[in-house]
Amino acid sequence: MKELRIQTEHHQYPVYIGSKLRFDVGSMLNKQYDRVLIITDKNVEPLYLQEVLQSFPSSSQVSSFTVPASESSKHIDVFYQCHTYAMENGLNRQSLIVALGGGVIGDLAGFVAATYMRGIDYIQVPTTLLAHDSSVGGKVAINHHIGKNMIGCFHQPQAVIYDTDTLSTLSNQEWRSGMAEVVKHAFLADEVLLERCFTLPAFPSMERDVLEYLLMRGIEIKANIVAQDEREAGIRRYLNLGHTLGHALEAEAKYVLSHGEAVAIGIDFALFLSQQHHPSLTFPIERYRKWLQQHQYPTSILHDYEITNLVERMKSDKKNDQHDIRMVTLNEVGDPTTVAYKVNEIKEQLLVYKK
Ligand code: NAD
Ligand code: ZN
Repeated sequence: MKELRIQTEHHQYPVYIGSKLRFDVGSMLNKQYDRVLIITDKNVEPLYLQEVLQSFPSSSQVSSFTVPASESSKHIDVFYQCHTYAMENGLNRQSLIVALGGGVIGDLAGFVAATYMRGIDYIQVPTTLLAHDSSVGGKVAINHHIGKNMIGCFHQPQAVIYDTDTLSTLSNQEWRSGMAEVVKHAFLADEVLLERCFTLPAFPSMERDVLEYLLMRGIEIKANIVAQDEREAGIRRYLNLGHTLGHALEAEAKYVLSHGEAVAIGIDFALFLSQQHHPSLTFPIERYRKWLQQHQYPTSILHDYEITNLVERMKSDKKNDQHDIRMVTLNEVGDPTTVAYKVNEIKEQLLVYKK
């Protein structure tokens, strides 16, 4: 098992990464809770709920609430149902919420915990690779029909308990999605991690040690950036590498592309822009493209969408104003920066890139 301590401005919490940890969730906490509510989704429930439930001592009264397994659960109605269930089960200020699932459950259950009786404790028990990104950093939210993650706040977990065995039941698409965020963290801060990513075998057949290392470094990099900028006033923006185009593509290609697959294409575009800025430097664009191909990222999908529509969506990203599109690019691997582009410039760059 690997252990990491995350330090935020007012709070410190452990991240445990290892095999079979789902059997020990309840006993790994340094505090006893009388009442515990596990929030999970329909796919994860039959796979892992019982084991997590039984990990709590018999002195704790543990209940569970299962929501649909998709982004649609980050909805105000589902959020309200969770609150109702928590009240009906007598959760109080001293109770604990457990987020058992991927990023959707982490964001939803975290936001329920942040708002229930003005905020109670919660822990993250991530079960997707992508959730290495969402389970640290303390951002919790649900969606509004006008925009994703528009209703939310910052609420740090008491612990993150990551059982790597749970990843064995993920689909290949979920693996691709999560690995894109690991590679993003590598491009932002760690050439050695990037090299390790480039030489990985087919995803699901990864050795346990390698997987633990990827998750550990990914989380560490994110936590380091967040520690310096908890409220996203400055360098936390770098975590958006690949996300401006990624979010636009994800929205256009609903139900076809996963979040990480869209981000993987966005990272490729960010590398292209970085190369335009620094023609004298060599970015590992070819290696990255080979890697995308090797792991079957659907890169050709960009050709199916109109650039004008994508740029419209990029403009409305909540991190931009109406005139400029702020892109995260690299001065070199491990040295990110942001560049503001005029809308027309981005259109032109996308046209050249698409060729
Ligand atoms: P997800 O939670 O929807 O999980 C993806 C799918 O995998 C779901 O169908 C789920 O039921 C299934 N699943 C989960 N664990 C499984 C397992 N072990 N075996 C088999 N199937 C399993 O999505 P995700 O990709 O984990 O997360 C995406 C969400 O995370 C988005 O809503 C995004 O906004 C959010 N996110 C938040 C942050 C943050 O900082 N808060 C960062 C990145 C992403
Ligand atoms: Zn992301």
